[in-house]
Amino acid sequence: MDILTHALSGMAVATCAVTFTKGKALRKAKVIFTGALGGLLPDIDAVSMWSRFDSTFGALFNLSDTGRVIYGSKFWYSHHAFFHSLLASVLIGALIILLVYMFRHISSKKKLSFSSFIQNHFIYFVVFVLGYWAHLAGDLPTPSSVWGGIAFLWPSDDYIGGSGNIWWWNNYDIFLLIFCCIVINLIMPTISKRIRANKKVFTSVVLFVTLVLILVQVNTRQYDYAYKGNTTKYAEMEQNSKKEQERILGKKLYRLMDRFDRSMKFHF
Ligand SMILES: [Zn+2]
Repeated sequence: MDILTHALSGMAVATCAVTFTKGKALRKAKVIFTGALGGLLPDIDAVSMWSRFDSTFGALFNLSDTGRVIYGSKFWYSHHAFFHSLLASVLIGALIILLVYMFRHISSKKKLSFSSFIQNHFIYFVVFVLGYWAHLAGDLPTPSSVWGGIAFLWPSDDYIGGSGNIWWWNNYDIFLLIFCCIVINLIMPTISKRIRANKKVFTSVVLFVTLVLILVQVNTRQYDYAYKGNTTKYAEMEQNSKKEQERILGKKLYRLMDRFDRSMKFHF
């Protein structure tokens, strides 16, 4: 799935999780941003496709394979491997919290208690991990391709998902559902007193309904996008994913989304 939808999926989860915490607007905004970060981070393993990977990371770690080969392989640092696992979500979340603590500890004049810092910042860890999981869930219905899914239970060699229900990108319907979830969860509690009083339930229901609607969309695609390894039908499948969106969204909304897509510097 595209990186923008991934980031927003983490953010959507965070708009719900944040209602379970207390704090000022800035703290809540940071929590929501952390969800987006969790939604982004698993695809850090696509760095091997960066044009200067071989001359930087490749040279630094003395890697015998090119970034392109690494990307489609099953090394722990390949795409869809360790960074797309449950273990990575927890380890990276813990590492980030630890780094933030160390930075604060060094930069603050007062002694900073580790236990009270963790207590205060545990929500960031939780939201990061949840955002990370939202990313992993979003990758499950994409094609198997050369990986056969994602290494969800790494270090196990088994890859799960790769059902090919949806194409890699052009999933505008899913993007719009997630976008609406975020907007509703952020705006509704501010304009309605009743919703504000029940914001935990409200945002949870909105998130749940969004998930159900996404599942419906994922499972009612008219075209099949499943393939293993490489496919000669890549361009055809990509075209089909566009046709599918035009059918779902209608001509007007599709045209709008298509224009938005073309303005992006990455696959969307
Ligand atoms: Zn991914």
